[in-house]
Amino acid sequence: MENYQKLLARLAEIGHVSSSLAVLGWDQQCYMPTGGARERAEQFATLGKIAHEMFTGDETRALLEGAESEAAGLAPESDERLTLRVVRRSFDQSSKLPTKLVQDLAKAEAIGHEVWVKARETSNFKAFAPTLEQLLDLSRQKAEHLGYEGGVLYDALLDQFEPGMKTAEVERVFGELRPGLVGLVQEIAAAPQIDDSVLKRDYPEENQKAFADFLVAKLGFDFSRGRQDKAVHPFCTSFGRDDVRITTRYDKNWLPCAIMGSIHETGHALYEQGFDAKDADTPLANAAGLGVHESQSRLWENIIGRSRNFWAVYLPEAKKHFKASLKDVDVETFYRAINKVEPSTIRVEADEVTYNLHIMLRFELEKQMLSGQLAVKDVPEAWNAKMQEYLGIQPSDDAHGCLQDVHWSGGMFGYFPTYALGTLLSAQLYDKALRDEPGIEAELSRGDFGSLLNWLRENVHKPGARYLPAELVERVCGEPAQSRSYLSYLRGKFGQLYGLN
Ligand code: ZN
Repeated sequence: MENYQKLLARLAEIGHVSSSLAVLGWDQQCYMPTGGARERAEQFATLGKIAHEMFTGDETRALLEGAESEAAGLAPESDERLTLRVVRRSFDQSSKLPTKLVQDLAKAEAIGHEVWVKARETSNFKAFAPTLEQLLDLSRQKAEHLGYEGGVLYDALLDQFEPGMKTAEVERVFGELRPGLVGLVQEIAAAPQIDDSVLKRDYPEENQKAFADFLVAKLGFDFSRGRQDKAVHPFCTSFGRDDVRITTRYDKNWLPCAIMGSIHETGHALYEQGFDAKDADTPLANAAGLGVHESQSRLWENIIGRSRNFWAVYLPEAKKHFKASLKDVDVETFYRAINKVEPSTIRVEADEVTYNLHIMLRFELEKQMLSGQLAVKDVPEAWNAKMQEYLGIQPSDDAHGCLQDVHWSGGMFGYFPTYALGTLLSAQLYDKALRDEPGIEAELSRGDFGSLLNWLRENVHKPGARYLPAELVERVCGEPAQSRSYLSYLRGKFGQLYGLN
């Protein structure tokens, strides 16, 4: 296995370049002075080029081919074969795209971002339309080079974020989910509404930080192998399994912003910190896909972090940090407030019930734009009509409608479904965890997350990138991805909260 060993060594080196890029990216969002932007962009470009050339170069190709023939006789489930499958997938994806197209895309995305920021500020969709048109065109070209079957161009784009996932599969799952969600939103709208004003009281930032760090550690985030910092947009990034960074942001008069945001990013971080130690620095120490990644953040944020059990234990702790604002608040009031459902026009502010409807809308419009069925100039109208149909509301302007998300300006078509797939999978995995480990809920009611985390470690984290998302779901749950678990979770929880029958 000489070629295989050499390939692993080369991939580890490429990984070190990529991790260094990630350090620079983290620093840019957390600490870099604004004046550093121009030089930082050049540092990104240089390191990015080095990593790309090392990965797609002839040396890597020769080692990969050599390693594949060395491993041909091994079992398909051997670590060597699974590793080579991961490498082959990304090697083919990277080398299928002509350099000219990669450069055109990078340029269009950089310009696209600037144009989008301005267009959103002034809510001027017309100013963004030509850029969107160009990004769609380049993405179509990209899909043609990546290849797809059965005339479904969207498959090629989706596959970049959720390996192996097919558009038809997403349509099937969303089709099951949609009527249940729309119905639930309507029933909740007709019920007496929840008062969440306790969350809008005065919450000093330094106290929020202390409480967020406390919770994050309780959930199992290892501070000897990670940090939490402040950034404009919350995110999780990793420089290897032993150095995982999360960020959060603070709103003095909206407690969930930092607290629930921290729990969400902790879910992502536990996945990254939970890869098998023996896989460190290899292609297997990676997520199966973005949907699986999001299942981890949603499980901890929503199923655990928005549960009555959780706040029964941790509200008394919160009261130590926010003496004045939480003094008169009981568990039930807090639990209800943190679960208030309210259709809003903004995806990132959406609650558990309405969130996936925001995603379905984007998924449907993306497919129609890419196929040419929906002209770019008609996007705002189509967007607003769908908002009305799904959530019964319309945005005040395009800044709060079709211009709100960064994804399209970065050419990220096919990304949105992973958010919803992750949300559904969070409930499906949790159901299975409870069947395997019936003691989990009793532990949770004592504020102990050990058994749940262990189950996730063994079933989801340690396998890393060994399996495609659909294979992982099938292996762990014994069935394909489904929306049943999520719908029944929502029905149970919000039926009780809103007194529905
Ligand atoms: Zn997330």
